[in-house]
Amino acid sequence: MDEKHQKIMAAISTLNTHQFSDLKHSLSLEFRHQQHLLYSLVHSPTRFSLTLHHLQSLSLHQKTLLIARYLISKLTHLTRFMETNIPKASTSLRLKDLDAALLLMLLCQVHQQEPQALERSSVQWRSVLKDYLVRSSLKLDGLGEYIDMATRCRTFLDAAGCGGEMEREVAASVAVVVGLPSVELSGGGMECVICREEMKEGREVCKLPCDHLFHWMCVLPWLKKKNTCPCCRFQLPSDDVLGEIQRLWGIIVTKSRMDSCGW
Ligand SMILES: [Zn+2]
Ligand SMILES: [Zn+2]
Repeated sequence: MDEKHQKIMAAISTLNTHQFSDLKHSLSLEFRHQQHLLYSLVHSPTRFSLTLHHLQSLSLHQKTLLIARYLISKLTHLTRFMETNIPKASTSLRLKDLDAALLLMLLCQVHQQEPQALERSSVQWRSVLKDYLVRSSLKLDGLGEYIDMATRCRTFLDAAGCGGEMEREVAASVAVVVGLPSVELSGGGMECVICREEMKEGREVCKLPCDHLFHWMCVLPWLKKKNTCPCCRFQLPSDDVLGEIQRLWGIIVTKSRMDSCGW
């Protein structure tokens, strides 16, 4: 077991019994849903050719982003237990893209295991994939497979050159910023650390999930450039997929350290 697997395992081991069975339940629901999508995809000639066409129209970069967004959805199964009051970024996949992501992953899996199978023309791919699915159903429901999938996120960051400890500077998710609460200051004397000026009593200010307060007109331009709190570096979700994988992976690493310290 490599270091990435150990981190995910350690993070999972910090869940309580209820959260753990919740995790397994949501993984198995998602597995059945995606299995159903894949089966109907290979059994419908129209849907298959539309999805394949969509996939072929994407650049390599767009395909990479597609898989990254798919992997983010895997990581959030786990990180949702670790950040409860954080609004979600808008990284979820539309059905068309989910179909494409599942097909792309299935093609990669077949290519790895039976390289000759896809050497035939793409017209025959549907029947190749149909046979493959019957012989070896994609096993993504078990915890072991989940951990494999989640570790791919980190491998993905390494491959994209973002694997180091250096954080990418990314904007906070627009949907998350729009949803930030406004609070009225009940007492004066507090300083906005961005402009270094006092926030006057009775004024509406922005409250980040870490409870730090800022003038709206100061924090909005800040969050357009960075997704971190200017006081404590707390990270808000981002719409940048690599930045978001990095943030979610960071949550898992922090959690896994808590486990290795014995809480
Ligand atoms: Zn200010
Ligand atoms: Zn803060």
